[in-house]
Amino acid sequence: MYDVTIIGGGIIGAACAYTLSRYKLSILLIDKENDIAMGSTRANSAIIHAGFDPEPGTLMASLNVEGSRMAPEICRALNVPYINNGALVLGFSDQDDKTLEMLYERGRQNGVEGLCLLSREEARKKEAFLSDRVTSALYAPTSAIVDPWEYAIAMSETAAVNGVQFRLGERVTAIKKTEVGYEITTPCGVYSSRYVINAAGVHSDEIHEMVAPKSFTIIPVRGDYCVLDKVENARAACTLFQCPSKDGKGVLVTPTVHGNLLTGPNAISCANRDRVNTEAQGIDFVKHAALKSVPSIDYRQTIRQYAGMRANSDQSDFIIGFADKGFLDLAGIKSPGLSAAPAIARLAADMLKEDGLQMSETPDSVFTREKRLFKQMSPEEKRAAIAREPLYGRVICRCETITEGDILTAIHSPLPARTLDGVKRRVGTGMGRCQGGFCSPRVVEILAREWGVKPESILKDGAGSIILIGPTKDGAKL
Ligand SMILES: Cc1cc2nc3c(=O)[nH]c(=O)nc-3n(C[C@H](O)[C@H](O)[C@H](O)COP(=O)(O)OP(=O)(O)OC[C@H]3O[C@@H](n4cnc5c(N)ncnc54)[C@H](O)[C@@H]3O)c2cc1C
Repeated sequence: MYDVTIIGGGIIGAACAYTLSRYKLSILLIDKENDIAMGSTRANSAIIHAGFDPEPGTLMASLNVEGSRMAPEICRALNVPYINNGALVLGFSDQDDKTLEMLYERGRQNGVEGLCLLSREEARKKEAFLSDRVTSALYAPTSAIVDPWEYAIAMSETAAVNGVQFRLGERVTAIKKTEVGYEITTPCGVYSSRYVINAAGVHSDEIHEMVAPKSFTIIPVRGDYCVLDKVENARAACTLFQCPSKDGKGVLVTPTVHGNLLTGPNAISCANRDRVNTEAQGIDFVKHAALKSVPSIDYRQTIRQYAGMRANSDQSDFIIGFADKGFLDLAGIKSPGLSAAPAIARLAADMLKEDGLQMSETPDSVFTREKRLFKQMSPEEKRAAIAREPLYGRVICRCETITEGDILTAIHSPLPARTLDGVKRRVGTGMGRCQGGFCSPRVVEILAREWGVKPESILKDGAGSIILIGPTKDGAKL
């Protein structure tokens, strides 16, 4: 019998696992995918929002501001890329000026530090490539960019070191209430747990309805993005928003922590919650909308496009509360969920405690994570790393200078990489200009060797994403 079972290994489930792993509890995290951070958490704008956008008095407002204050310390302790680059919301009209004043006032009420309204000239001083059409801006110095999947992986790995168990690739199909808690069914077994946390993202209404009557509906909304090569990175220093509308925060232009430039997203309601393919029309819209902020973006430098699915709902706020005794919904966690995640997890832990869960701290739990890629090491550290593991001297991903030693660390980490994209998310192979054109066969080879399986059984990403369709010749290199 587990004390707590978390359903969903996105940033919310990961933050809960990390936060609760501080206590003497037996904890299980279940996700239907074969890795952590495979839902909204891996495909978003990667902004730790300052918190001026949500309406004052909502959970979204208070948890956004609290979460964004917690993020720098967590990212430092867990070695997660985080850059406090600040944000500008751009105004292009008198109407926008009114919106910016409203956002300034909201931010002030939400407790966001350092907000100020800028003139066109002041905004242009900050951003060399800004459009001439910009007439004013709201500046938010506490806004930041982060590596969103690394944020979730780092918290999960640390939780795993602290004893949290992970069952990946198991979809929860039924939940039954018992006298002492719940029985959670997956195709691989039945797990008993006193408490259940529902952190199932776009599927959180389905999980809720396994236990309680329907009380909310998830309305999935897709967002498309363009990622540009590092040569375009300097087009934006801050994250550049346009004024928000009923469809969300609008199209942004932002640098990424990996040194690229990102433009997007749009907002398209979708019937299929798991279908995160991009669409040409959506990409065209995003490209044109971003040019309004920065007209000189060179889209010939696009290296990738992707889409993410928002877990919007028919409620205006995050849905946080007990659906039944011992069953806690952290549902409909739309934007700013990434920013709010550590605060949501802290609130969830407080709610479980208040409900009677015994929570005494374990003195030996860890809350730091060592992680250093070869390219981040000093020359002395590089020499020492190669002396210890000669495969640090073999560069596999030439665009991003990722070595075989880095890849081995990812494959043998507390939550090991098993797929091509699992390695990519942990060390950045295939993230560069060639998008894995050169390194993918080598990474497949290394994964197959380390897991002791045939190369054709290595997947690109989720279940069914086969790369090789037949066996390689005996002994032949890929
Ligand atoms: C386009 C877009 C842009 C965004 N931009 C930002 C931003 O810049 N800043 C910000 O703060 N927020 C942003 N967000 C919001 C943020 O990404 C989400 O709030 C956050 O990732 C939600 O995390 P989650 O853990 O709730 O959901 P997910 O990351 O979706 O995780 C849910 C998990 O539950 C699992 N699951 C579902 N059903 C089952 C089942 N039956 N059994 C087992 N497992 C199951 C899924 O596999 C998944 O891994 C954005 C979102 C999108 C889509």
